[in-house]
Amino acid sequence: MQYHAFLIKYAEIGTKGKNRYMFEDALMKQIRYALKDVEGRFEVTKEAGRIYVNAEGYYEYEDVVEALKRVFGIADICPMVQVEDRDFENIKKQVIAYMDQVYPDKNLTFKVDARRVDKNYPVGSEQMNRDLGEAILEAFPQMKVDVHTPQVRLRVEVRQKVNLFSVVIPGPGGMPVGTNGKATLLLSGGIDSPVAGYMIAKRGVKIDAVYFHAPPYTSDRAKQKVVDLANLVARYAGPMDLHVINFTDIQLYIYEKCPHEELTIIMRRYMMRIAQAIAERTGSLGLITGESIGQVASQTLQSLAATNAVCTMPVFRPVIGFDKQEIVDLSEKIGTYETSIQPFEDCCTIFVAKHPVTRPNIKGIASSERRLSEKIDELVKTALDTDEVIRCQG
Ligand code: ATP
Ligand code: MG
Repeated sequence: MQYHAFLIKYAEIGTKGKNRYMFEDALMKQIRYALKDVEGRFEVTKEAGRIYVNAEGYYEYEDVVEALKRVFGIADICPMVQVEDRDFENIKKQVIAYMDQVYPDKNLTFKVDARRVDKNYPVGSEQMNRDLGEAILEAFPQMKVDVHTPQVRLRVEVRQKVNLFSVVIPGPGGMPVGTNGKATLLLSGGIDSPVAGYMIAKRGVKIDAVYFHAPPYTSDRAKQKVVDLANLVARYAGPMDLHVINFTDIQLYIYEKCPHEELTIIMRRYMMRIAQAIAERTGSLGLITGESIGQVASQTLQSLAATNAVCTMPVFRPVIGFDKQEIVDLSEKIGTYETSIQPFEDCCTIFVAKHPVTRPNIKGIASSERRLSEKIDELVKTALDTDEVIRCQG
């Protein structure tokens, strides 16, 4: 079937009253962004509380559906045929052609669900249901009507044009990115943080990312992996700025001055401080990490408390209660898993102690950090001043 258009049904936007137009506009913007690399010409329009994607000329159906499935805020995607000639005999003909092409196997039950949105149209909804149902039965005697639990519910909407649709493809749900402020994702090359970014973006939050790079201990290839992950997350979350922070001197300095079993925690605290400084500079309202309780030594409740203690901004940890397998399943679903498991070193693994503390005491950690007082402010300032910003467009 060559569909001409898609009707986009949206999820929670409906509850926003006067802000509704803002949500709709954000959704339209994200739909255009998702379709930018799909072959074909598309027009995204809004009409009476509905969003349509119209395809002009040739386009790849599967690619459009795949792209729309990545747009948060979409509840359902309904591929649609639009009939311009509203003459009732023509509608009958088009309805028969639609059923014929969309359902090659005629052994099915159906129901026609017509709506006369344009009240000036001479045929009423009930009569359309009856007459179109009859026309279908006459054309395809194997089909049967079932008004209660039909296999196919054919919607016929008479507006300025007549919309025919029956296929409903689930979208990702959530809210359009850009409707709930911005947050800064600490993005490593692992499995968890891309999933965390995806989950917060799904609630309509725009995302920037920060990656702590430690050359030459971490390679360019490790950095490229994070850029690749940022691009994969950006397919859902919209264009995102990835800040690459050179963390080497800070790590070496901590390594030189602090007890090695506290290294990871102190490093994590500096990551949070720097991410927070970037967040403040770029208008983010929170930080996002891929932490999950108990996963590693730096994610015990005591470690999380010690890391959290340096943050004044809210820290969102959407996978905090997930098992590793649940995070893996989600990363496979969103398409980041294969990239995440590429074997490149990350900056924590290189400096990691044999026996890291699992129950750090916040006062003890703060006192170890005082050994850094001579140079650390300068090192942090340099790291912030030399950040490299990479624009990731999916
Ligand atoms: P991930 O799979 O996201 O790497 P992880 O299980 O390896 O997580 P940690 O290495 O303890 O866990 O990191 C915890 C969180 O800290 C990560 O989810 C990420 O948000 C952040 N993080 C860790 N290393 C980096 C880094 N090099 N750059 C940016 N963020 C980082
Ligand atoms: Mg990691």
